[in-house]
Amino acid sequence: MTDHLATPLDAAAIESLRSVFRGEIVDPTHAAYDAARVVWNGMIDRKPALIARARNAADVAAAVNFARDHGLPLAIRSGGHNVAGYAVCDGGVMIDMTLMNGVRLSPALDRAFVEGGAHWLDVDAATTPFNRATPGGLISGTGVAGLTLSGGIGWLRGRHGLACDNLMGADVVTADGRLVHCSESGNADLLWALRGGGGNFGVVVNFEFKLHEIPSELFFCAPIYAEERANEIVLKWRDFMASAPERLSGLAEFSTIPHDPAYPENTWGRRVVALAHVYDGPAEEGDRVTAPLRGFGDPLLDFSGAMPYRTIQTLYDGIFPKGRDRCYWKSTYLKSLDDTIIQDVTAHLAKRPSEMTFASIWKFGGAMQRFNPEATAFGDRSAPFMFSLDAIWADHASDQANISWVRNAWTDMQRHSTGRLYLNFPGLGEDQSLVKNALGETTYARLQQVKRKYDPENLFRLNQNIQPA
Ligand SMILES: Cc1cc2nc3c(=O)[nH]c(=O)nc-3n(C[C@H](O)[C@H](O)[C@H](O)COP(=O)(O)OP(=O)(O)OC[C@H]3O[C@@H](n4cnc5c(N)ncnc54)[C@H](O)[C@@H]3O)c2cc1C
Repeated sequence: MTDHLATPLDAAAIESLRSVFRGEIVDPTHAAYDAARVVWNGMIDRKPALIARARNAADVAAAVNFARDHGLPLAIRSGGHNVAGYAVCDGGVMIDMTLMNGVRLSPALDRAFVEGGAHWLDVDAATTPFNRATPGGLISGTGVAGLTLSGGIGWLRGRHGLACDNLMGADVVTADGRLVHCSESGNADLLWALRGGGGNFGVVVNFEFKLHEIPSELFFCAPIYAEERANEIVLKWRDFMASAPERLSGLAEFSTIPHDPAYPENTWGRRVVALAHVYDGPAEEGDRVTAPLRGFGDPLLDFSGAMPYRTIQTLYDGIFPKGRDRCYWKSTYLKSLDDTIIQDVTAHLAKRPSEMTFASIWKFGGAMQRFNPEATAFGDRSAPFMFSLDAIWADHASDQANISWVRNAWTDMQRHSTGRLYLNFPGLGEDQSLVKNALGETTYARLQQVKRKYDPENLFRLNQNIQPA
């Protein structure tokens, strides 16, 4: 909790903004103010001087101009899922994009045009009735913007790559208040930077994504094994995945079964490892392909089954409610997953202080790795696995224990790391040098040039920040 108070702004200046604004201006006296500043990580309690809920690109430009001209910090909020809380600031302007959540498909069903404040559930609801999808993440409540701009690792990555690999164009309000379109044939430098360089270059008001055909049902594979067996299970999973078809994308995910009637009572409180995967192809084929993963001895539980992609995207939503829990998430890319590394992972997990915590080993490969690395600013696609530590806990008194646990485990695991990491799991953003580590020297330097062109004064700095060249 911070005890900052919202800075009062000049009333005449706010009135003048209000007079041109189609959306809603929410100041600290407004009834909606407290709800509007809540983001996903319950540790974040920041008080913007005003919240500009934009309805269109002109509103966004007016809010950008207002923040710039008054020398105020500027935060952009779409899904509000960033665990570092970049979507909200103290004493500045927060542009809330959530009213801009429309999705339009091209009649040929090969493109989706998605407004800058949409969540993945908005996209899935618009595309899946036509048996189409574009790769998002693992859940539907995350914002399209933050996830895509720093990469986007989801269930469809094996066949279709990252979310940012499918970004074909965008309309962006830049720091000088202009509306700039970018595609591979115009302002291609900006499109390249948006494919992994984060929210550094302006406010994206429209995304254009490539769409892919998907069956009406995919196979979701989710056997859950007791964590005592994790060393054996993860090793078998690694060996299986080494020759699995690239249509199969997933992760080995450590958690604790909650005291929830959705689970059998005799499993409550058990620490487990789930082998969660989606087979991006006919469901019967996915059932057959994943059978070995479900047969490493008896799973404690098995939530596998054929279901629409849209349903799969919502399975985890309830586990991650907005603004309730306190969180600190960090990742590192692994050089390999040899037996020692598996043992080190499980040894660290045995010491986790909170039963609400998740941790995962994500398998990389397929289209995600074949995609031309030059075509995007995404840091590194060559690592075979990513380890992510997603500490989640309930009370302020446990902050130190949980944050220290992640930091210690993360630091120790650097022995096994390629040295690179995923920028969408940025801790609390306390270590900005990790941005360069994540992106690599060459990509970072190239991004600095693009930053200088579109945001030379670093107005958009509440993010995984690129310093202008
Ligand atoms: C429960 C949960 C599940 C997750 N699952 C996945 C997953 O499966 N795969 C994965 O890759 N990641 C995942 N993430 C991480 C997620 O990708 C990041 O947290 C991401 O930043 C969220 O985007 P957002 O729009 O919701 O966030 P916000 O907090 O709204 O924004 C994040 C950043 O993007 C910038 N931004 C937001 N909107 C815009 C815009 N319109 N234009 C320009 N910049 C903008 C903001 O300034 C901020 O810096 C998950 C996070 C959570 C909390």
